[in-house]
Amino acid sequence: MQNNPHTTLVTADGPIANDTHGGRAKCLQRLVRLDLPVPRTVALSFDAVQKIAEGHLPDVDAVVAQFPKEALLCVRPSSQDPDWGGPGAVLNIGINGARFDEFCQTMGEEPAAALYTRFVQTYAINVARLDPDMFDDVTGDGRAALEQSLWAYEQETEESFPQDPAKQLAGVLRSMARAWGGTSARLLRQAKGAPADAGLGLVVQEMAFGVGTGQCGSGVLQLVDSDTGLPQIKGRYLSQSQGRDALQGDSEALYLTKDPRGMSLEELVPDAFAELTQHAALMRAKLREEMQVEFVVQDGALHILDGVRVVRSSRAAVRIAVRLADDKIIPREEALMRVEPRTLTELLHRQVDPKTKRDVIGRGIAASPGAATGRIVFSATEAQASASRGEPCILIRRETSPEDIRGMHAASAVLTERGGITSHAAVIGRGLGLPCVVGASSMKLNLKKKQITAPDGRVFNAGDEITLDGSNGEVLAGSVKMQEAALDETFNKLLDWAEQVADIGIRANADTPADAQTARNFNAHGIGLCRTEHMFFDPGRLTVMREMIFAETGEDRRAVLERLLPMQRDDFTQLFRIMQGQPVCIRLFDPPLHEFLPADRIGQRELAEALNLPLSDVTRRIEAMSEYNPMLGLRGVRLGVTVPEIYEMQARAIFEATIAASKDGEPVVPEIMIPLVSAKREVELIKTSVDAVAAAVRTESDASFTYRLGVMVETPRAALRAAEIAPHCAFLSFGTNDLTQMTYGLSRDDAGRFMSDYVQQGVYSEDPFHVLDIEGVGELLQLGAERGRKAQPGLTLSICGEHGGNPESIAFCRESGFDYVSCSPFRVPVARLAAAQLAI
Ligand code: PEP
Ligand code: MG
Repeated sequence: MQNNPHTTLVTADGPIANDTHGGRAKCLQRLVRLDLPVPRTVALSFDAVQKIAEGHLPDVDAVVAQFPKEALLCVRPSSQDPDWGGPGAVLNIGINGARFDEFCQTMGEEPAAALYTRFVQTYAINVARLDPDMFDDVTGDGRAALEQSLWAYEQETEESFPQDPAKQLAGVLRSMARAWGGTSARLLRQAKGAPADAGLGLVVQEMAFGVGTGQCGSGVLQLVDSDTGLPQIKGRYLSQSQGRDALQGDSEALYLTKDPRGMSLEELVPDAFAELTQHAALMRAKLREEMQVEFVVQDGALHILDGVRVVRSSRAAVRIAVRLADDKIIPREEALMRVEPRTLTELLHRQVDPKTKRDVIGRGIAASPGAATGRIVFSATEAQASASRGEPCILIRRETSPEDIRGMHAASAVLTERGGITSHAAVIGRGLGLPCVVGASSMKLNLKKKQITAPDGRVFNAGDEITLDGSNGEVLAGSVKMQEAALDETFNKLLDWAEQVADIGIRANADTPADAQTARNFNAHGIGLCRTEHMFFDPGRLTVMREMIFAETGEDRRAVLERLLPMQRDDFTQLFRIMQGQPVCIRLFDPPLHEFLPADRIGQRELAEALNLPLSDVTRRIEAMSEYNPMLGLRGVRLGVTVPEIYEMQARAIFEATIAASKDGEPVVPEIMIPLVSAKREVELIKTSVDAVAAAVRTESDASFTYRLGVMVETPRAALRAAEIAPHCAFLSFGTNDLTQMTYGLSRDDAGRFMSDYVQQGVYSEDPFHVLDIEGVGELLQLGAERGRKAQPGLTLSICGEHGGNPESIAFCRESGFDYVSCSPFRVPVARLAAAQLAI
């Protein structure tokens, strides 16, 4: 039989592999190679199990003959990846009336009856497919329970319980092979990433009973804590037990190491315990992984039944990988490959404790990760009032606008009814590291009544406590247990290693000194996008900004801009100083001007007072400025061309800050970026104007500096015409938020309403605002990059849309020869690890 590749005795050098016999069979072979006390095992290959499912059994007598006559057997699943699961293990195969009588003599009636009862019931349910409820009435232990179980079996099947071990084994193998093909099992494993044709292997193993005379029992042991990844002996042991009984919540299981109860495996059987910890350490070193060891103690002697990869939280995954590399068990590159980049997000923010029960009252798009609990408020002003009382609050808005920025700063989290992954609330939330859920359209918002109604009809009022989970988009009732962020030394170590291997730059999108500091702390390679308009949301500045918008003439406008100039200069000086010589790319003013004007009557009255104008004047001007499609209207470079004073002020502020910051640090070479370009002439005009400001500042200050001018490619036309735009630029940075919006003709602020329907129905494979659409938008990126580089060979290429923090999109940019990606500061670590994995 050893020559049959499909039914193989597991020896140190038999032909067993993950992709033919499954992970468990392979692991058992490794344990045999390590000379661990593993019970005799036969592995059935995927092909053999497939044939069994089709009705062709292997020679079961030959399998049974591989084991000692007196042995009982168990069968366990062995899928290629243990995470894909499989049918439950069946223990004690081979027991029958005669063996039971023998066992009564050798181990006593009670344990013998327990073994037999367990098998009868498992066989009845899994093989004979009887209803599990039929054993609900079985009472008592020992022989009584056994007799009732056998009687129930015989009543239902009208047959006596099979006594032939080979027949029992055949039944078990058949039922397990068929269970794997069932629809729910298939869906379950496919959800975990298994391919449709994933195979199942089975292992048949001699039982180490775990019950009987002397010290007997079963348990599991691992050398790390699954939540923290810190070294610690963890596990459970239960005397007179089998399988995973010790892990049942209500069991009387003991801890493994000495504990205050004074009863532990270590105290009960010190030798077996010492041997077990040694074996576990050997498994860690040789299997190159933290393993959970399944073991049995039989009359004081230790048996190792199995080893599975320790289940771990995200923070434990990082610590385990780093410790394995520190201990020289795996190389650093492998440690980097073992951590899923997205899991780092969970370490960067507070999270809902994964073990907590969730009372979900609504769902939206997970727009900015992390979780927070607070009392509901419905306006920015209430959020600020709440913060000043020291009360955490959750700001709920239909959607946010620049007016809400102060409220967002004051809130612990933000929920919006509308919007998508690149809407205002989402972008600001990610920048601030503030949990945010957008597009929660199933929750009804009534701003007048200050209420929000959950789809199940529950109503939540201002002041009620809720929790927002920005990592998965859920809204929860009340407060829940949280897990703090875990930016510890192992996290930093992993990122240092990533930095050493990554070969694409990672910059941060940072608008304020606080953002820049976060970017610096995460070792971003500079700022790839500073959205200057975000600097004007400060209350003091907003009024000046509004005055500027209301100026009747260019001269009046210049006068107001004079007052904004020192503020901008200070902003930029701070950014340059914080970034200490790293490149800082400043985007000139982008949004439509009316975004800065108050939308409601109260705000308009306040503005009229501040500007000393009649209210009617204010409302008339606001109406006159309104546009049908503001995102496609007078914004970006179009403002720069038609209202040149704004860009001139910004250019001056940048250059004066350059001189100031260069005095006390490394010389600064600012990067100035023009948004929403669609024609070469726009670039020519702005370049002429910015060059003139640079010349004027040089003359006035008698200082020298250089700067790099670049174009933000956000319209399809800019990508298509890159050949004629690039010669005027030092860099092109693809703004993939707007580029996606314009390529699809899909509003980034409204897409949230139907995006999940579109993804569910397979119209889009993913939300294109979240994962770059490689086929469409990606082609524009490649075209733009090729045409731009051909016309201007040294051209720097990057993306600065939200896709910059997405691992798949980073892979695309790297393959397309981009120099760097730029993303929200809190996504820098994820992007860096993803970049490192691409380079390995
Ligand atoms: C973009 O459009 O991709 C971009 C980065 O700019 P914003 O999100 O500010 O429009
Ligand atoms: Mg844009």
